[in-house]
Amino acid sequence: MDKFRITSGFRRRILVVEDEMINREILGNILGPLYEVAFAENGLEAWKLLNDGQYLFSLILLDLIMPFMDGFELLQKIKKDEVLKSIPVIVMTSEKEAEVQCIRNGAVDFIKKPYDMPEVILARCERTIELYEDKSIIRSVERDSLTGLYSKDMFLEYVRRIDSYKLNRPMDAIVLDIEHFRLINEMFGRKEGDKLLSFTADLIRRKYECTAAIACRAEGDTFFIYCEHSDVNIDMAKDIQNELYSASDSMKVKLRIGIYEEVDKNIDTETRFDRAKLACDRLRGDYSKKVAYYSDELQARSIYQERLISDIEKGIANEEFRVVFQPKYDISGDIPRIKSAEALVRWFHPDLGTIPPTEFIPLFENNGLISKLDNYVWEKAAASIREWKDNYGISIPVSVNVSRVDIYDNSLEDRIMKLLAANRLDTDDILLEITESAYSENAKKLIEVTTSLRNRGFKIEMDDFGAGYSSLHMLNELPIDVIKMDMKFVHNLEKDEKSVRLIELIMDIARFLQVPVVAEGVENEGQLSRLKALGCTIIQGFYFSKPLPYDEFTALCVKSG
Ligand code: C2E
Ligand code: CA
Ligand code: CA
Repeated sequence: MDKFRITSGFRRRILVVEDEMINREILGNILGPLYEVAFAENGLEAWKLLNDGQYLFSLILLDLIMPFMDGFELLQKIKKDEVLKSIPVIVMTSEKEAEVQCIRNGAVDFIKKPYDMPEVILARCERTIELYEDKSIIRSVERDSLTGLYSKDMFLEYVRRIDSYKLNRPMDAIVLDIEHFRLINEMFGRKEGDKLLSFTADLIRRKYECTAAIACRAEGDTFFIYCEHSDVNIDMAKDIQNELYSASDSMKVKLRIGIYEEVDKNIDTETRFDRAKLACDRLRGDYSKKVAYYSDELQARSIYQERLISDIEKGIANEEFRVVFQPKYDISGDIPRIKSAEALVRWFHPDLGTIPPTEFIPLFENNGLISKLDNYVWEKAAASIREWKDNYGISIPVSVNVSRVDIYDNSLEDRIMKLLAANRLDTDDILLEITESAYSENAKKLIEVTTSLRNRGFKIEMDDFGAGYSSLHMLNELPIDVIKMDMKFVHNLEKDEKSVRLIELIMDIARFLQVPVVAEGVENEGQLSRLKALGCTIIQGFYFSKPLPYDEFTALCVKSG
């Protein structure tokens, strides 16, 4: 554990302010073996050196009588300076009376002139530096009791310290985060969770011990590492990741790694780790990548996404979201006929322009905001269906997208029923599209909700079928009415035979379940005729129509009778 201490190995810097050359030489000889020593010949020179920011000094040895600016004046200036005042000053003097005045002005100790034995001077300097460093560090509890790593406060203090000693060295900030730690705690108990944290800390120590890295447990299951930049850093982190995975047996622990390489030292220490954490969080739920790097684009993207999140409520209130309708055609007869439509949302943001749903839907799904938006879309869709009935005598069912988050909302059914009542609609008027990925998450809840909705009379479409996890095993238990084949099968239809085989398979499943298949993403005649030959009867895609605004869609329906 002590390998992680960084106090050894870094040479502190002492500033000697003394006008007599012989004295500078003596002090240089005494201190040189242990410290970096800088010299100034008078107060003015020292003041310049202290302020040019190139070096951070751990101690100042100050003569009193000097030309241009004497020691008294310099001491006063230092103690009035917000940054410099924390550097301890030892005054070198032969006059007893001067001592009192210097103490009043903030000096911490004295060295008598002519000089004592070298050991005495060295001991005084060492003790003062130690005392002062401890003072600033001890106020934060030094170590995390569970893992023995530094506490976060202490760690950040050391990061600042390291920066002052490694001024020109590029440094890396690394964040390690255990995926699903809360779940592990719940499933295996807190004790096992604690063990896992200690084990991870141990791995970090073992891997990085030969470097001058420092590490801490920042909070819960998040670890910070600060080290000199090297490509090896990331390899070591990956080793930890692998070892943790193989050592954790049934837990199958995944460690996310985020790295901010060659940190910008002008930004504060905590922000550097925020950046590494930002990269790290990108890996949440993504099993294809092991490591994520912070970049300016990532930062820009995350600012953009924050913006979208903070603007959604206002956007809904100001009607910036519009619903468009994409027709689904029945191609079983000679002439294709509009059978129904899918409601899709668009965001016309006053500053950011038109934003496609792929930019904001996954974002809002992650934090639950999607419910509000879905509700808004459903309301608009319901009102539109009503208007088509009233104004044109057209009855056209509309599918709406139902997100995972909606499934977990116990008021879902109630909300939809109220919506129907308010618009004098029937369960035939609205179809519910549930994406396949929702099926794998909490099967029990999903079966419960869809069964209940179906008992009410709603039709359920399984969206993006075949896109993600296989839900074949669930099809038995899960009541569905329509399969919506994922677009990628259609897009690959003409390119590879495998897709054709898969479409045939999906058609077989549909026949077995006695449900129709909707093919979406159909863009050309070739795709259309092949799908028709394969037995697909409902088509949605640019070939027939893009998603249309209310007026255009209405006109299309009126025209097609
Ligand atoms: P989705 O539910 O699979 O919707 C179909 C997407 O395919 C739509 O993209 C549609 O515009 C696009 N599309 C239709 N025909 C073609 C075609 O021929 N070629 C190609 N390349 N694309 C076609 P869109 O509108 O960008 O929506 C993307 C996704 O965003 C939707 O995928 C859905 O998952 C989500 N989404 C859209 N609106 C809503 C909404 O109101 N609520 C929720 N929860 N999700 C929505
Ligand atoms: Ca859909
Ligand atoms: Ca789809």
